[in-house]
Amino acid sequence: MIRNTLLPLALLLAAAPAMAAPLDAETINRIADQSFSHSQVMQTAAYLTDRIGGRLTNSPAMRQAERWTQERFREFGLSNVHPEGFDFGRGWWIERASVRMTGPRPLALRSIPIAWTPATNGPLTAEIVVAPMRKERDFAEWRGKLKGKIVLVSFPAPAADDSKEAPFKRFTGDEIAKMDQVQQPTYDPEIDRPRYERVNFPKQLDVFLKAEGAAAWVSMSARDNGLVHGVGYLYRVGETPALPAVELAAEDYRRLARLAKTGPVTLEIDSKVHFDDSDRNAYNVIADLPGSDPKAGFVMAGAHLDSWVAADGATDNAAGSAVVMEAARILKAIGAKPKRTIRFALWSAEEQGVHGSDAYVRQHLATRPRNPDPVRAAIAPAFNSRMFPVTPLPAYREFAAYFNIDNGSGKLRGVHAEGNFAAVPMLKEWLSPFSGLGATAVVSSPTAGTDHVYMQSVGLPAFQFIQDPLDYNSRTHHTDIDTYDHLRAEDLRQAAVVLASVLLSAANSDKPIPAAPLPTEPADNDPFRYRDPARD
Ligand SMILES: [Zn+2]
Repeated sequence: MIRNTLLPLALLLAAAPAMAAPLDAETINRIADQSFSHSQVMQTAAYLTDRIGGRLTNSPAMRQAERWTQERFREFGLSNVHPEGFDFGRGWWIERASVRMTGPRPLALRSIPIAWTPATNGPLTAEIVVAPMRKERDFAEWRGKLKGKIVLVSFPAPAADDSKEAPFKRFTGDEIAKMDQVQQPTYDPEIDRPRYERVNFPKQLDVFLKAEGAAAWVSMSARDNGLVHGVGYLYRVGETPALPAVELAAEDYRRLARLAKTGPVTLEIDSKVHFDDSDRNAYNVIADLPGSDPKAGFVMAGAHLDSWVAADGATDNAAGSAVVMEAARILKAIGAKPKRTIRFALWSAEEQGVHGSDAYVRQHLATRPRNPDPVRAAIAPAFNSRMFPVTPLPAYREFAAYFNIDNGSGKLRGVHAEGNFAAVPMLKEWLSPFSGLGATAVVSSPTAGTDHVYMQSVGLPAFQFIQDPLDYNSRTHHTDIDTYDHLRAEDLRQAAVVLASVLLSAANSDKPIPAAPLPTEPADNDPFRYRDPARD
């Protein structure tokens, strides 16, 4: 951040009565009025979900969402609205798909094709074999036994008591207080190995099943209650699996597995899916509310626009995208004139490994070496995030802060300071007007797995909001019921107020927002570790 220390004292006093104070009361009330009485957030969410639907990266629906969100940003009056491309892979979409048991009795099953698997080209009927495989070493047991079969590759794990998480949940004060307990970061130089084995297994499985002459494969949903997800990761050009594959609801899968113990079971899979190779780039959508001081840099807010396709990607993450767009609309509508530019980002390819925001970091903020293993380097940014040195790019110095929204439809309860202890007092001050909206918690603990992490990993101040989970963890996350019905209008309007206000506070702050030191290679914090061979 650049601060002009030469301003006359009188001017400073007039412009900024308290250095990191929240916005003046009138501005906060105008933001609240725009959101509570003139909201567009549910219309935005409805268009993204009901009209466009599931937005798998590079699918025709995601392209439509990229175009539509840019049009909306322009209609709201934002500037510099544009897409930013980065290399991703193939587009893929489902026209229709069904799975039926045809013997010993006819029965329609709850199913979804696994993303980026090929079509069946009409109904494919075959007998099943239950052959659970998790690691390459499991292949030996099934060699020579799979020819012509539909292979059920998951272990039919029995139904568990699902009392761990309430079906619909809001955080209590105690639960939020517990988030303010910091776990120190750990650094294990070998942490990547199990992760790599896990993500690489589907590729090995497809090669094995193809070589054995299997017809297709089926996995079991990780959740009960009829939910399916269809998550798959072989989206790169040249990595497309050879065999069609579907996920079945856990109850349907277990039924097939039980029947197979006592007699032949036949399935019919009809998966009419399509690849779209018109453009292998994915695109982030960027829009600016320009700042009045061109030297003051920028603050950012973002959410990922892409989703999985079992349903309409409502809570993950049309909700966050709609809130980010709504904050942009509100700030423009009240005529906000921030000192720093406020930049809004709708990321792509978050669901396949947080690619969009990582691409933004690499293009604009900082570079770092890629993993020396090109296979690992290409799988996901996580495999490159522990490479050093980090080299800041020019915009690094202009970047003031980033705020991310990606945890469903619940209202904002506060913000994770993400281990940035020095930022805690400032964040508390910015949230202080919102105790009546339940959004004042600032907790130190870090969060992982979404679009603030690669900014944070290069030492920039990047924060994720705390949100009430509602039914996100229990039911909607990546599932076939992630529809508009699970969005809560009051929560999203609240989130838009808090986000717009925090962004404006950050954009106008005369104090720089504290950052971490530029990260360097950490030491192994357990240098006397022995690995338990039984766990490998
Ligand atoms: Zn997700």
